[in-house]
Amino acid sequence: MKTEQFNPFAIAQQQIDQAAEKLELDDSTHELLRWPMRELKATLPVKMDDGSTKLFHAFRIRYNTARGPAKGGIRWHPLETMDTVRALGAWMTWKTAVVDLPLGGGKGGVVCNPKELSETEKERLARAYVRAMAGSIGVTKDVPAPDVYTTPQIMAWMMDEYETIVGENHPGVITGKPLAVGGSKGRQDATARGGVYVTREAAAVANIDLKAAPMAVQGFGNAGMNAALLGEEILGLKLVAASDSKGGVYNPKGISAAALVDYKARNGALKGFPGADEITNEEILGLPVTVLFPAALENVIRGDNAENLKCRICCELANGPTTPDADRILDEKKIIVLPDFLANAGGVTVSYFEQVQNAYNLYWELQEVHWRLDQRMTQAFASVHEMSLRNKINLREAAYLVAIARVAEACKLRGWV
Ligand code: NAD
Repeated sequence: MKTEQFNPFAIAQQQIDQAAEKLELDDSTHELLRWPMRELKATLPVKMDDGSTKLFHAFRIRYNTARGPAKGGIRWHPLETMDTVRALGAWMTWKTAVVDLPLGGGKGGVVCNPKELSETEKERLARAYVRAMAGSIGVTKDVPAPDVYTTPQIMAWMMDEYETIVGENHPGVITGKPLAVGGSKGRQDATARGGVYVTREAAAVANIDLKAAPMAVQGFGNAGMNAALLGEEILGLKLVAASDSKGGVYNPKGISAAALVDYKARNGALKGFPGADEITNEEILGLPVTVLFPAALENVIRGDNAENLKCRICCELANGPTTPDADRILDEKKIIVLPDFLANAGGVTVSYFEQVQNAYNLYWELQEVHWRLDQRMTQAFASVHEMSLRNKINLREAAYLVAIARVAEACKLRGWV
């Protein structure tokens, strides 16, 4: 698979430029939205288990806080750069805005290889990150969350360090925590659940019958396997194919999602699932299914393979699975693409619910989380769909317009521009 060769922040700025032109934003608003409002770079000395000290470079971006405190994950990745964090901070700003959360966007990162760190080294790194960022994060400023290679346990250490520094209980400083220390019910499958809700709404407006209709899932991890389970349970879809990094399985008569989850848990991969044929990650994209969930990597649907897609709805649970040239082809083929920052916004929405529950120190039952998530996602789809009809543009362009217009309006009302 090809990976993005360009600077992601340059891409994020181009997307803003295009939306600014369509929205006819004035120059100062446009320029303000092109840049993070605050950036923090820290060098973290961390004691390693062998007694040596290693330096880690760390970042935190508050991209825009016009609509509320910044919200966004902390990634631990060897290739992290300030520009990836800036781009991801911009995308979080549009994501929180498109689902109309009273939050801004932010992101953090540490340049490291977590696979080379012991648990005790990870704990010291997590605590060092919070010591460096403590003045800049907080429930009214910026609320981090887990992301690539950061976990609920790491969030718990970070919360503990922050509370030690401020000398108060402050669970809302960070989300994605384990349930025992202030996490929310329903976080585990929230991303997939949100994607399933918007798929239901898209099918309804396009008159597509989902009952027993075939679905395929590329990437059978957290997002993908929950999409398979919930696609069956909520939409009545029939799973016919799924894949992971080691390859995929296909049975046009149907595969039980629960049996496949169980098989993957026991065998570590999907390959060899009884009664199904093998299929490659490329072939899975071209299956004649009603719903395709790309839930693995970025840039898998490109100009050179988009022509092969035969789905009617492509629900982007992964971040950035479709390149701009592929988008044009999918448009011509009249495939409904539910854009990533709408389709996978269920995760940040339940993170927001976690903050709300922490603030009230009162915790919701699972049904209440599901009901509130459904409301948010349904409303978000309706706003984006309405914008797409009004301007005769696809859902991705419409989602950018909805989100960027909301952030621009908040900047203006505050008198920033
Ligand atoms: P994960 O690590 O749990 O799962 C990823 C899956 O993709 C794994 O099963 C892996 O085997 C598979 N995979 C890797 N390379 C592949 C390849 N070449 N072809 C097919 N499958 C491959 O990750 P996740 O949390 O499910 O995230 C998946 C995507 O969804 C990412 O793009 C992530 O940014 C996005 N996302 C996830 C969440 C969330 O809450 N989990 C929220 C927003 C966005």
